Amino acid sequence: MVQPIFRFAPSPNGPLHMGHAYSALFGARQAERVGGLYLLRIEDIDRLRCRENFVADAVEILDWLGVRFDGHVRRQSQHMDDYARAIGKLEAMGLLYPCHCTRSALSRERLDPDGARLHQGRCEPGEGPFALRLDMARAWREGLTFFEQAQARQIKADASIWGDVVIARKDIGTSYHLSVVVDDALQGVTHVTRGADLFMATHVHRLLQSLLGLPTPLYHHHDLIRDDAGRKLAKSDGDKSLAALRDEGLTAAQIRSALGF
Ligand code: GLU
Repeated sequence: MVQPIFRFAPSPNGPLHMGHAYSALFGARQAERVGGLYLLRIEDIDRLRCRENFVADAVEILDWLGVRFDGHVRRQSQHMDDYARAIGKLEAMGLLYPCHCTRSALSRERLDPDGARLHQGRCEPGEGPFALRLDMARAWREGLTFFEQAQARQIKADASIWGDVVIARKDIGTSYHLSVVVDDALQGVTHVTRGADLFMATHVHRLLQSLLGLPTPLYHHHDLIRDDAGRKLAKSDGDKSLAALRDEGLTAAQIRSALGF
């Protein structure tokens, strides 16, 4: 039997808060239940937003919280070649096109699930740095599904809502979607556990796996931790970081129990 492999994959663009703690503990519990390995991956491709001190802080606070990881920590910023190779493969298949469009040239009315403006299907002429977009009409494949453990059922993948999604950003040469799919395959991840806010992203991920000939893990999108007003907790809301809660005197056991672990 293949050993199950799970991962927790934070982006070091701010301190970890309760939402991260829940996700990290959720993955750890799922891995433990089936005797799986639990990997830590630092998703630091966005050089402008990620900071080195957030990486060290994340590793330290997860350890304090009692989340244990196996193997070495993979840092996406050290594997740009892997992403370039996958992008080259999609390019060779004729599925990507360069796009110089500025934000104002994109649709104001039609947004993707992340709230980003959709591409209008034709590009403005331009020079200089460009993004690479997936030609969704050409790339789309019927009959793709993934298994959602939270619903205990097979979900039909439909990436069309993402339009001609960006596969390589102008500024960093790759994207979250592309990197995550490549890494999950290279790390042998069999189970992806992550927040429900990434459920729609899985539809693109499933398509990319199919195009790149990569295996599809099982998915478990867990509910998000919400604040008293029912909003999703986010760093941008100024919610307290785990480090701040610790400074206020909360113990790791108290945080775990507040989150149901
Ligand atoms: N790095 C992503 C985040 O922090 C999560 C990626 C994933 O679990 O697929 O939101």
